[in-house]
Amino acid sequence: MKLDVNALRYLSKDDFRVLTAVEMGMRNHEIVPAELVDRIARLKHGGTYKVLRNLLKNKLVHHDATKYDGYRLTYLGYDFLAIKTLVNRGVFASVGRQIGVGKESDIFEVATEDGTVLAMKLHRLGRTSFRAVKSKRDYLRHRRSFNWLYLSRLAALKEFAFMKALGDHGFPVPTAVDCNRHCVIMSLVQGYPLVQVKELQNPDDVFDTILGLIVRLAEHGLIHCDFNEFNIMIDDDEKITVIDFPQMVSVSHRNAQMFFDRDIECIYKFFNKRFNLTSEKNEEQPGSESDDEGNSRPSFLSVKKTAGSLDKELAASGFTRKEQVEMEKYIEEDAEGHDSSSDDEDDDDDDEVGDAVPLVSLKIDQQDGSDEPDCNLASRDSDVPGTFSEEN
Ligand code: ADP
Ligand code: MG
Repeated sequence: MKLDVNALRYLSKDDFRVLTAVEMGMRNHEIVPAELVDRIARLKHGGTYKVLRNLLKNKLVHHDATKYDGYRLTYLGYDFLAIKTLVNRGVFASVGRQIGVGKESDIFEVATEDGTVLAMKLHRLGRTSFRAVKSKRDYLRHRRSFNWLYLSRLAALKEFAFMKALGDHGFPVPTAVDCNRHCVIMSLVQGYPLVQVKELQNPDDVFDTILGLIVRLAEHGLIHCDFNEFNIMIDDDEKITVIDFPQMVSVSHRNAQMFFDRDIECIYKFFNKRFNLTSEKNEEQPGSESDDEGNSRPSFLSVKKTAGSLDKELAASGFTRKEQVEMEKYIEEDAEGHDSSSDDEDDDDDDEVGDAVPLVSLKIDQQDGSDEPDCNLASRDSDVPGTFSEEN
């Protein structure tokens, strides 16, 4: 999806006020009635309606008049709210080129005031499944479209919390810098996704390191669940960084063994295919066990015996059981409902990684952002759809 941040510089305080009002209304309305937006924004002299037209022109909101005159945020509108909050906080000052398109995310370079380049991941849960589900299961569609904001925010919150905890425990992950709404700011990883690497100096060492990471994660109580060549970055010194954490689960998850084995299998398969590495060489892996063919692979059961409690620490840090369950439900439904039909209405996406463009500096009209929802790990109940009351 294109992210033209130029418009961001021209938006006024009132524009953001109304955009925020639409966001608030979306906590309990799929389409927010225009007069509710007006009541929340409280602009003088019917100003809200004029501003809504401007937001519509800039594709920050979507107008829907099927049932009543109403609006909802677009991805772009949500992006702008997150970016503005983070810029106001001084986390970064400009947005540059797009460096990645994930299945359900867009990744951009951003730069701080002093020129340090960071990575910004905008979560887009619902992008693929939204389309898939549309054709198959209509009843889910409404729930989905109602929930994409919430789910994307949940994914960002989870990713941030896990990245931070893993970094604190010495895992090679990007440094978690900050998070707001569906947006995570982290250090920029030098290097490339492993999938792009055709040759390695020491494939055996890299293989061992990667398998060792899966085992060490499980020893800490966690399984990545998407541990593959797309989510492993490698630099010129063949140093590994693991990315992409929204789908991680605890070793006590009911499907933990399957997820663990699947992560291991992905790595075996990839190294076998790409670097001709066979599994026999890996006899010495910690926690390994021979299978029926006499190959030795890390075994979930022996690793689980020694598992620590990072999973519980994370649960205690504010990423609650309920949120975990909702994410998992989503991920499971998503896995069931995949097809490639594409008719999402925010279809100005072109899913291409952008060319190098100069960083666009964001001198944004400053505004008090204290009422902004963000990734505060405590006291987040009011951010759950349906619990917002207009009086707040
Ligand atoms: P998704 O969850 O959508 O798969 P990822 O977190 O895997 O998203 O990111 C998608 C791509 O963006 C990665 O394959 C990688 O090329 C790039 N990317 C993500 N995070 C970073 C980062 N911190 N530094 C550099 N590139 C990154
Ligand atoms: Mg990924």
